[in-house]
Amino acid sequence: MKRDIRELSIEDIGKFCEEHSMRRYVSNQVYSWIWNNACSSFSDMSNLSKKNREIFCEHFSINKITEDYHEKSNDGTIKIKFKLFDGNFVEGVLIPQDKRMTACISSQVGCSLSCKFCATGTIGRIRNLTAGEIYDQVVAISDKSKEVYDLPLTNIVFMGMGEPLLNYKNVIRSIHFITSEEGLQMSYKRVTLSTSGIAKMIRRLADDKVKVNLALSLHAASEEIRNEIMPIGDSNSLDDLRDSLKYYFSKTKNKITYEYVLLKDVNDSISEAEKLYKFTKHIPSKVNLIEYNPVEGLGFKKSSQENTDAFVNFLDNKGINVGIRRSRGKDINAACGQLANKK
Ligand code: SAH
Ligand code: SF4
Repeated sequence: MKRDIRELSIEDIGKFCEEHSMRRYVSNQVYSWIWNNACSSFSDMSNLSKKNREIFCEHFSINKITEDYHEKSNDGTIKIKFKLFDGNFVEGVLIPQDKRMTACISSQVGCSLSCKFCATGTIGRIRNLTAGEIYDQVVAISDKSKEVYDLPLTNIVFMGMGEPLLNYKNVIRSIHFITSEEGLQMSYKRVTLSTSGIAKMIRRLADDKVKVNLALSLHAASEEIRNEIMPIGDSNSLDDLRDSLKYYFSKTKNKITYEYVLLKDVNDSISEAEKLYKFTKHIPSKVNLIEYNPVEGLGFKKSSQENTDAFVNFLDNKGINVGIRRSRGKDINAACGQLANKK
């Protein structure tokens, strides 16, 4: 099988050019076509000679994702199902909110972490996405935003399928091509990476000084409850997570966002709100409470309005910067944690 040219560095492409008696600058042209212009075919690279285009075509592929279908929710949210070159599927979502256009993108086909409340967790991990496939989702959702709403994409969140920190290399590489001059030049301040909490990898993000917003899916600030609903907690204790976030903050000075999905009779009591308050006190942060989107067969319910209000008020009175994220695109299974490749 031919190799995806997007797996190569510019130096590798340069070497290939040399070996095939092409001028060195051809590598820059090709690199710019694939990352600045999201080009999907060598035959479209109009400033390359026909012969050079053919040589590239003989040796490499460009494994673009393609839209399988899309669905529009009655709240305007659009879910796109993407087909990958090997027949796998992932989903991405465009969430319009006034002039704010957010792309919610996937980092893996499925997810290995089996959080008990999440639809993606039920399918297991099939494979990691390549940097190119992650980048392609941004391009496709951005195009959709312009086409349907006549507005450019403003935000990108890694909150689709998969755990981004378990596909670290490709996710970081995709962020490079989404944000840098070598790629789409979107602002890194508009990119949010959401993780279920892998302490070792949060430290690595800090060391690598990756400039994005970090959201931690906390969902419970008592060890027992968290481990019950998020098995990844077994090997990443709350103390360890807190230390890794302190380290992250010390290196990046970036505020942390804690995500907390309110599950009826699981984590929505005032005593749990108090624990959450204590956990978040250590570093500058904000809390996003998330309305739970029920997933059939998983046995969880969303918290009642009464408990939700009491939870919010408790945190608010403590001076925590707290918001509540209403669910979007529920009617088309496009809401958080509902992405599982079913129609
Ligand atoms: N794997 C990463 C990112 C993808 S999940 C993570 O876990 O952070 C994105 C967010 O959706 C996470 O906060 C996740 O806990 C939340 N989520 C999962 N299932 C959900 C559901 N059914 N309803 C609401 N939020 C859900
Ligand atoms: Fe994976 Fe995130 Fe779903 Fe947990 S919530 S199973 S980490 S996608």
